[in-house]
Amino acid sequence: MKKTVICTTCPSGCEMEATYTDENDFSVTGNRCKRGEAYCKNECFDPKRMFTASVKVEGGERAMLPVRTRTAVAKDKIMECAAAIHGLTVKAPVRMHDVIVSNVAGSGVDIIAAMTLESARAQGADGGKAQGGRK
Ligand code: SF4
Repeated sequence: MKKTVICTTCPSGCEMEATYTDENDFSVTGNRCKRGEAYCKNECFDPKRMFTASVKVEGGERAMLPVRTRTAVAKDKIMECAAAIHGLTVKAPVRMHDVIVSNVAGSGVDIIAAMTLESARAQGADGGKAQGGRK
């Protein structure tokens, strides 16, 4: 089997050609370094992606909270990640890295908050400084 893979590990963006029957019978050309070979092998046998999205927030200083998977998740789980947060609303306050969905789609990876979001009421006359809000 042959597969063309563009390495995204660094800005060089090497175009690689993998030839393989299985993980033990794998070769790659077009990579300028070993990192490209590892990336290409992962793309052929265990492709993963970071999942990023936003969810609604109730009572927050903003209406939406950016979320992401803690680590890259199997590429074939991305649609299930999207389904898991569809229609989800979280309550403020939320701390960066709080778990929003645990073990999403049985992947072993959590979806977490990508930023801290204070409650709307924490943004009082002092701009929320008294409760640790942004300055
Ligand atoms: S193969 Fe090496 S040089 Fe080429 S894009 Fe990947 S990391 Fe960069």
